[in-house]
Amino acid sequence: MLILIILSYIITISDNLPLHIYSPVKSDISAIKLSKIGQFGLLRKPRPGIPAHYHTGIDIKRPSDNYEDEPVFPIYKGKVISMRRDGPYANLIIEHEYNSKKFWSLYEHISGIIVNLKENVNPDQPIVHFMNTNELDRYGWQFDHFHLEILKVQPVKMVSTREHPDLFYKSYSLVCYTEEDLNKYYYNPIEFLQSFPDILEKP
Ligand SMILES: [Zn+2]
Repeated sequence: MLILIILSYIITISDNLPLHIYSPVKSDISAIKLSKIGQFGLLRKPRPGIPAHYHTGIDIKRPSDNYEDEPVFPIYKGKVISMRRDGPYANLIIEHEYNSKKFWSLYEHISGIIVNLKENVNPDQPIVHFMNTNELDRYGWQFDHFHLEILKVQPVKMVSTREHPDLFYKSYSLVCYTEEDLNKYYYNPIEFLQSFPDILEKP
């Protein structure tokens, strides 16, 4: 009996969490809070080895004070096609399809990947976590957000290596030097989430 009460308590609590704020089919977009320089299309300053480039996604703030395993959900159902697990640039890419139209989403600065390559995922199930306190201490607290990109075109194919056995694609993140580049490869994620699925029909 006690277990039942505890279980129903847990279910009630998890119903109240902002679970699906990244999903266009289930979301309350207003629940998405961006970090200070987290907007799509900001021109990012050059840093050693990397020329100035446009920010190709949005940086989403942690929605709670859960610094252990704050979950991240996929924006839409799809299939995991690539991931890398190393350090602050760990990321995961999902291929989606709606009415025969494909699009891709990428989740970066994440950890604790809990899905497998080629697995079908949906917005009811978390796929990764925000970085936890230990990881932020190690890699830097500038990564206290997750970076979401939504791509119009297939990401760049890669040959996986022993070091990155599940890495089959990479994004156009650091090669967007003009607004044309940016709009050729990417949707503005906020616009996308607000106007899905109509936005897929736009040129
Ligand atoms: Zn970012």
